Amino acid sequence: MVMSAILFSILGFGIMEISGWFIHKFIMHGPLWSIHKTHHQHTDGPFELNDLFSLFFGSIAVILIFLGVGSLDYRFWMGIGISVYGLSYFFLHDMLIHRRIKFFKKPKNGYLAGIFKAHQAHHATNKRDGSVSFGLFVVPKKYFNSKR
Ligand SMILES: [Zn+2]
Ligand SMILES: [Zn+2]
Repeated sequence: MVMSAILFSILGFGIMEISGWFIHKFIMHGPLWSIHKTHHQHTDGPFELNDLFSLFFGSIAVILIFLGVGSLDYRFWMGIGISVYGLSYFFLHDMLIHRRIKFFKKPKNGYLAGIFKAHQAHHATNKRDGSVSFGLFVVPKKYFNSKR
């Protein structure tokens, strides 16, 4: 029970980073660019059309938790893993990196500074093509190397 809870939560989290990378690279910077571009270009107001993606992933988590809560089976724990991913994503991507809610200071070193730099590299362009670094938590090692 405890083992499957841990295992399926980690699985849910991991699947999100991997499928998120694919979806970001090939769909959001592809056929659904018209939605995702609201995150790369300036938009007025507190929300972006791109937030629909968070809503979409969030509903998958809610459905899984709802389906699995009776027996606390793998669906429940994968839903928990996806939710933990979504929450961490919100803290790191939306609060720390983009400062949509100004709470965290810019990280100076360590892991957070690395993923900060990697995501800034992703935002170096506001175009659909030619962007780099599509993951959030797992990024190329080079972003952790320089001390700057
Ligand atoms: Zn993007
Ligand atoms: Zn971003």
